[in-house]
Amino acid sequence: MTYYVTPVANLIEELSKLPGIGPKSAQRLAFYMLKAPPADVKKLAEAILKVKEKIKFCKICFNVTDEDICQYCRDTPRDRSIICVVEEPRDIVALEKTGEFKGLYHVLHGAISPIEGISPEDIKIGELLKRLKGQEVKEVVIATNPNIEGEATAMYLAKLIKPLGVKVTRIASGLPVGGDLEYADEVTLGKALEGRREM
Ligand SMILES: [Zn+2]
Repeated sequence: MTYYVTPVANLIEELSKLPGIGPKSAQRLAFYMLKAPPADVKKLAEAILKVKEKIKFCKICFNVTDEDICQYCRDTPRDRSIICVVEEPRDIVALEKTGEFKGLYHVLHGAISPIEGISPEDIKIGELLKRLKGQEVKEVVIATNPNIEGEATAMYLAKLIKPLGVKVTRIASGLPVGGDLEYADEVTLGKALEGRREM
């Protein structure tokens, strides 16, 4: 038996597919939308559609952007001799908020995880190596998450990059172990960056 009419049931089903949204939250959100002014709900729907239409990945670093090259890769005063490697575009935001990093970024779009079947070929590692060969990069800072997958990815990258004559550093511990970079506060993340160690 179904408790809701089809349009409401569909909305709840779609919302419950979102990360961190369980059936209860999905229900709450659906009923919020039912009560909200139609203009507000239309704006939300349009924002979701627009993000899929307009947003693409930077051709250089794979950050999200609405142009071919993202704002950080375009920004000429940035230090082009240092690249910070992160798992997700949202990690760039976390690092930018620290105000400590003035170099370029590279987004892997994931981390190596044999359990989840994510191998090095599934993330943007080959693209990173290509960037290192073409440019005057002196240091790669690996800022993957401080969990098993993030550490394994850092080790794998260090093994590949060091023979290229590029210094490889890892952001310092002190970040909550097992957590995500995005949950670290700005001061902690800034210190982790400052205290990075050569791998
Ligand atoms: Zn970019």
